[in-house]
Amino acid sequence: MIGASPVGTPAGLVCPSCGQPLESDTRFCQACGAQVGSGAATAAQPEDERPRPWLPLVVVLWVVIMVVALYFIYAWALGVGSG
Ligand SMILES: [Zn+2]
Repeated sequence: MIGASPVGTPAGLVCPSCGQPLESDTRFCQACGAQVGSGAATAAQPEDERPRPWLPLVVVLWVVIMVVALYFIYAWALGVGSG
């Protein structure tokens, strides 16, 4: 076998751009520098606007707290004024 592929290079894994044999865990072709592997390097962060279902709950909780606080302040003011 003269001119066989080098040892360690799995058959079938070649550069889609130039056809050179690639290493097993490479991401760029060493011959032409083309990006190898589909989807492996696409680690873009999607701008997903996550819905926050707890947000209205927090607002409602704040309103309740304010109402209760105002009620206690009002009751305390009445008690002080009367007594
Ligand atoms: Zn290449």
